[in-house]
Amino acid sequence: MQKHLFTLGFAALLAACNTGSSTNTGHTGADTSQNAAFREYEAHYLAALWKTYPEWATAVGFHEHDTVLVVPDSAAMEAELAFLQQQQDSLQSYDTSKLGVSLLTDYYLIRNQLEGRKWDLEKAKTYEWAPTSYNVIGTFASMLNENYAPLDERLRSFHARMANIPAFYAAAKKLIKDPVPELTSLAQDQHLGGLSIFEKDLADSLSKSGLSTAEKKALLDRAKTAAGAIRDFAAWLKALKVEHPRSFRLGGDLYESKFKYDIQSAYTAAQIYDSAIARKNWIHTEMARISKQLWPKYFGSTPVPDDQLVLIKRMIDTLSIQHVKPAEFQQAIEQQLPTLSAFIKEKNLLYMDPSKPLKVRKEPGYMAGVAGASISAPGPYDKEGNTYYNVGSLEGWTPERAESYLREYNHYILQILNIHEAIPGHYTQLVYANQSPSLIKSILGNGAMIEGWAVYTEQMMLENGYGNNEPEMWLMWYKWNLRAVCNTILDYSVHVNNMSKEDAIKLLTQEAFQQQAEAAGKWKRVSVTSVQLTSYYTGYKEIIDLRTAYKEKMGDKYNLKAFNEQFLSYGSTPVKYIRQLMLN
Ligand code: ZN
Ligand code: ZN
Repeated sequence: MQKHLFTLGFAALLAACNTGSSTNTGHTGADTSQNAAFREYEAHYLAALWKTYPEWATAVGFHEHDTVLVVPDSAAMEAELAFLQQQQDSLQSYDTSKLGVSLLTDYYLIRNQLEGRKWDLEKAKTYEWAPTSYNVIGTFASMLNENYAPLDERLRSFHARMANIPAFYAAAKKLIKDPVPELTSLAQDQHLGGLSIFEKDLADSLSKSGLSTAEKKALLDRAKTAAGAIRDFAAWLKALKVEHPRSFRLGGDLYESKFKYDIQSAYTAAQIYDSAIARKNWIHTEMARISKQLWPKYFGSTPVPDDQLVLIKRMIDTLSIQHVKPAEFQQAIEQQLPTLSAFIKEKNLLYMDPSKPLKVRKEPGYMAGVAGASISAPGPYDKEGNTYYNVGSLEGWTPERAESYLREYNHYILQILNIHEAIPGHYTQLVYANQSPSLIKSILGNGAMIEGWAVYTEQMMLENGYGNNEPEMWLMWYKWNLRAVCNTILDYSVHVNNMSKEDAIKLLTQEAFQQQAEAAGKWKRVSVTSVQLTSYYTGYKEIIDLRTAYKEKMGDKYNLKAFNEQFLSYGSTPVKYIRQLMLN
């Protein structure tokens, strides 16, 4: 579930705000209720949103602006700031106390999108220092790969949209100032790596199309020019002499604000960091207790190591040997799903719509490279689309690579992965979200709520006896949970507290029991992203907190199934708002 909010391949300049009259269309009629008026406003907002961000529109499956590539020049910047200002003015004219629950949460999400984007343009200025924000290639790739319209139609839009690629990169060069070296080199890799879309994949698609020879030639000629502009941009980045390169570390002030807009938590980033540290220490104590209890079963009379981290690591390494064979990986995942559904039914944990079984499929070729499992949901504009559980295959992997991977996704973790990704994690949450369809919540849905729910369900299943309360299962879940906790600690420590690479690797390998390769990958991720890594733990913590408060409020009438179902009924809304709605 990728969020697109702050990753638009688009940038804007600080320009004089257009504070023109607000566009309060639709709520002037005396006979129109506030709710009906707001519903109408939402339609206006979305129409304006897609006009302002045509690439984002394509990504969510709204294809009316597929021929447009906005050049990030000063006119576009002014238009974007005018859009933000107008929408903010419009929002202010609604009385939130008169809005129904679903529309009220929509209101908060829209307000946050506008404020967050304005903050990005005026304060964070990502467009200056993050050359990665100018990558147009993903949009073009999706137009070739996704089957939303007949191929010929998609190719004609592709053709029209390519026209602005040279101007797009010319404008980008003017905006980039003291870029972050890590993001500069990542942008080079991404641009060079994506060239095959224009230099190879397009030709493959053309050969399957019904376009005329002349049309095909015009497309290929333009693709050549586009590829040239992209190659030139990468070379320009490489040759760029930067006197005062910006650090990849976001710094405390920007971090707190970004956390506020991206995570939408009731807590500050600093509070979440403190909470994660406390959670890590608590988990270590629990893991040591379980490891000690299990020790004689696996190590007989061998003395128990004194150091608790050494003790835990030895136990985890030993348990990780239990895993499926590479060839049985997909089958093992598929076979677990009915078991999970049956368990939820038996324990009465939440209602699962039997008319929406999850379709498991082998991961399609264009997504390949990432093994494991992921959920592909249809875009908010594609009502008939299927939801798939993509399972990657380990075909063609060296035995060493497969072994290391399977130890990570061992007998225990594989079950936890299925809970997280599918039932009752991401997939189940999605089924519920679709029952009260809100375009706003599908588009601006809160990533911390979505990830938090998936993490919460892992614990919820184990608490109710999934895995027969085996200490091995709990130990492995704590390891998995530590990953979410340490994602938060790492992100905050690196971006705010200047944590060194060496200390980061130490944290992940020694205190979160990760493999060297996994830790190295995480370091790379934290040096090119910020804040997103905190979403898993923040959402989880807020849901657990809410459940505790809800339990207290309900007293004898508390029921877990009712909690789960009510929680999910609000769609992908930030937990702090769900909290207000459930506790008031
Ligand atoms: Zn093995
Ligand atoms: Zn997830």
